[in-house]
Amino acid sequence: MRIVITGGAGFLGSHLCDNLLKKGNEVICLDNLSTGSVENISHLLGNDRFRFYKHDVTEYIFIGQPIDAVMHFASPASPRDYLEMPIQTLKVGALGTHKALGLAKHERARFLMASTSETYGDPLVNPQPETYWGNVNPIGLRGVYDEAKRFAEALIMAYHRYHGVDTRIARIFNTYGPRMRPHDGRVVSNFIVQALRGESLTVYGKGDQTRSFCYVEDEIDGLVRLLMAPDSEDIHYPVNIGNPHELTVLEIAETILKLTRSSSKIVLEPLPEDDPKVRRPDITRAKELLDWTPKIQLEEGLYRTIDYFRSKLGSI
Ligand code: UDP
Repeated sequence: MRIVITGGAGFLGSHLCDNLLKKGNEVICLDNLSTGSVENISHLLGNDRFRFYKHDVTEYIFIGQPIDAVMHFASPASPRDYLEMPIQTLKVGALGTHKALGLAKHERARFLMASTSETYGDPLVNPQPETYWGNVNPIGLRGVYDEAKRFAEALIMAYHRYHGVDTRIARIFNTYGPRMRPHDGRVVSNFIVQALRGESLTVYGKGDQTRSFCYVEDEIDGLVRLLMAPDSEDIHYPVNIGNPHELTVLEIAETILKLTRSSSKIVLEPLPEDDPKVRRPDITRAKELLDWTPKIQLEEGLYRTIDYFRSKLGSI
């Protein structure tokens, strides 16, 4: 297949490029490098089945070759990034999704979007099944990301229903692993970098809020399965892709301290506005439709991620 990946130089996008190239596909990577980095894809630049274009996908996308699939992964994804780039976040979720869908429609290509557990907002139901409509504050600081992704989901369903595009929506839960940026502000990267540097781990609030963390390799496997799954009535509705192993932020801090053998302290800092109190995916649909369950245990995934950040420490 010839596959366009928007945001292909980002954390998830670059792992997707690797996975799909390894399976013999051709990959065209688009990224405006606002949060992605050429470093994530530099090892692919000599591959003749790989091309990279620096392009902002809120602008018209022209490829000039037949395309089999479009995977729309362009967007700031860390709360710190989308708080700093609120308008770009709304634009890439709305205009960028429109452009990417337009390309898929024109090429009769399959379309898959990276949606998010943030569509559930601060959920009143735990775990979250895809049928839950969510509890989102549209005018809060996080609303720029949540509503951009919710709009994107609505637009995708409209392109599916009205134009017959073969679309898929992955709701991605917290994912971690190599190629996270040391300073992107997310909890796993923050805590590992702080622990390795002997700095205090910054737990927001009391640390009793929960998240469920999926190792990147498992996440990518689920996403590729969703892309490759045969067309059916049910496959067009959102599918949660995440690891249901739920723990508190304090537990993740303690686990990282243990695995890094760090003597760093834990300090409590104010809880950001609208920070969800709980989050855990119900993955029944992913199991049934994709025969997918995450395989990599938290400690194993964290060891691999810690190794990655150890090797990066010299340059940060
Ligand atoms: N968090 C924290 N300390 C940090 C970074 C994040 O306590 O240095 C908390 C944050 O308040 C949230 C959770 O960890 O409750 C996950 O935050 P992250 O930014 O990774 O992603 P989110 O799940 O909120 O989108």
